[in-house]
Amino acid sequence: MGMFDTIHFKKPLACPSCGAEITSLQTKDFECVLASYHVGSVLRGGTVHSGIIKDRLWCDACNKAGRSPADSPVYLVVWHTVLAGVEQELAQAEGRLAAVDRLDLIAWLDEAQLEADRWHRRFCQLHSDVTRWHEHLAHPPGPTPDDEEGRRERSFRRLFSLPDEILNALDPLAAILAANPIAAGEKGLD
Ligand SMILES: [Zn+2]
Repeated sequence: MGMFDTIHFKKPLACPSCGAEITSLQTKDFECVLASYHVGSVLRGGTVHSGIIKDRLWCDACNKAGRSPADSPVYLVVWHTVLAGVEQELAQAEGRLAAVDRLDLIAWLDEAQLEADRWHRRFCQLHSDVTRWHEHLAHPPGPTPDDEEGRRERSFRRLFSLPDEILNALDPLAAILAANPIAAGEKGLD
């Protein structure tokens, strides 16, 4: 109850009433599990296999200004359960549905793989940082002798340990999270 999914638009749509840019749509047309969709996403739990779903745009600017927003339909183009387009004109949506081809599939696949790769790299970096912080806590570096051996150990440590700005931070875990921003994984999601 009260749940929805969000469709993120590749390019913002304009509110037909005030012209404000609208970047996403909250919809109850699908599974309503707070999923994030964009063009190329497989839509879960919808009842339309291939076709056009009419929904309604919500304009935050109109709402905040106390205007009643224009009746602004938005058409979701669904092709074999994949979101193939988001259009404000029915004719455009029909054209989009008829025009889906293999090049679209390749472009969606490419974007999905790039996205998975970005998340994988971000996860690996975060995992590596947290592991090194754990090792630092478990085996705090002690003093090293001022000889050849000690110099080698210090330069080895500099190579593999976390940077000083994380180790010396008041809250090293927060510093690790700040160094691995979620935006690094979300980039290009729209
Ligand atoms: Zn508006």
